[in-house]
Amino acid sequence: MTFRSGQHFVQIPGPTNIPERVLRAMDRQIVDHRGPEFAQLTLEILPALREVVKTKDSQVVLYPSSGTGAWEACVVNVLSPGERVLLAESGWFSTLWAELTRKLGIDVEIVPGDWRTGADPDEIERRLRADREGRIKAVMVVHNETSTGVTSRVGDVRAAINRAGHSALLLVDTVSSLASIDYRHDEWGVDVMVTGSQKGLMLPPGIGFNVVSPKALEAAKRSTFPRSYFDWAPIIAANKQGFFPYTPPTLLMFGLRESLAMLREEGLENVFARHARLAEATRRAVRAWGLEILASDPREYSNTLTGIIVPEGLDSDAVRSTILERFDMSLGVGLGKLKGRVFRIGHLGSFNDLMLAATLCGVQMGLKLCGVEVGDGVGAALDYLMNPQAAERKRTPALV
Ligand SMILES: *Cc1c(COP(=O)(O)O)cnc(C)c1O
Repeated sequence: MTFRSGQHFVQIPGPTNIPERVLRAMDRQIVDHRGPEFAQLTLEILPALREVVKTKDSQVVLYPSSGTGAWEACVVNVLSPGERVLLAESGWFSTLWAELTRKLGIDVEIVPGDWRTGADPDEIERRLRADREGRIKAVMVVHNETSTGVTSRVGDVRAAINRAGHSALLLVDTVSSLASIDYRHDEWGVDVMVTGSQKGLMLPPGIGFNVVSPKALEAAKRSTFPRSYFDWAPIIAANKQGFFPYTPPTLLMFGLRESLAMLREEGLENVFARHARLAEATRRAVRAWGLEILASDPREYSNTLTGIIVPEGLDSDAVRSTILERFDMSLGVGLGKLKGRVFRIGHLGSFNDLMLAATLCGVQMGLKLCGVEVGDGVGAALDYLMNPQAAERKRTPALV
């Protein structure tokens, strides 16, 4: 590697930029995880997390693991081998969750998707109504599909389950939405929520979370899955005094306390509004470049990342590597069947107007260097950032 001066831009949709305050909070000597200082930390963090997910009655369980570990924890606690689930295909991450669940011995019925739209509540309702014997034990949805930039309408999925009068659990992945896009655990009746530390929570990778409803806790008592490390019961029991049955990710938890404090200081609704603004500015840039947004339904545009389709004949990885080599910025790859066709701009976490402006400048220059004749996307985004209200008023009806 040649020496590079200045800031490296990590505009992948997670892991995200870590705020200085969080870095400083983790830069400390280790503490005894069986001592009083650590217990106090746990007892501060767990209720603060419940606020972020908007729950009163659900339990937060955290593991030293990636988000994938928390996926597995969810499955082995509430299901039993041989049971059936309904999983909405939204893209690469929903497909990975389906594969993991299948490998554990679950019969996964996929609701097919086109990787440009989110979970279809009507189709979920139809399939649940057809399941007269109640064989489907859970509906699984990725809230924000990070491979495409599509946010599923989880509240509408809950309404569909209710209309069908079905007792299936609702299991939701919020790895790339939590603390960036509104998520309402209790209101949407989510039974198990799965997330990770490295996206909206602005931490390094290394903590996986489950948020578990009372109904899911009951289901866990009936589950016959062999499980040990991931078993909720001993963790929840030890957490009551602020401890864990294993060595917790101590320093990451100091960082988590700080990131939760930052979310509280900014105000969760302001955090969501900031992400919505930066995402809208990004989409305006894409349109002004003359390129296509991968998400096809404006109701489902993701506020944490934007998937962009490159013109026919161009390899999106060539655009990405040009931008990395010339401007020291990483962008998200096209995953799975989107490889080479799509690149993704992450605009979540600790992020502001000028960081977005620089990001879009890098993309615009990179596209030009790759021979794409683009319009002034940066200008369109800056106009919006300077005066979002005026820009909204000028919006053509076609874009509403
Ligand atoms: C990042 C991500 C994951 C995977 O998390 P890991 O920490 O990489 O295991 C799962 N689901 C979604 C939606 C993600 O964005």
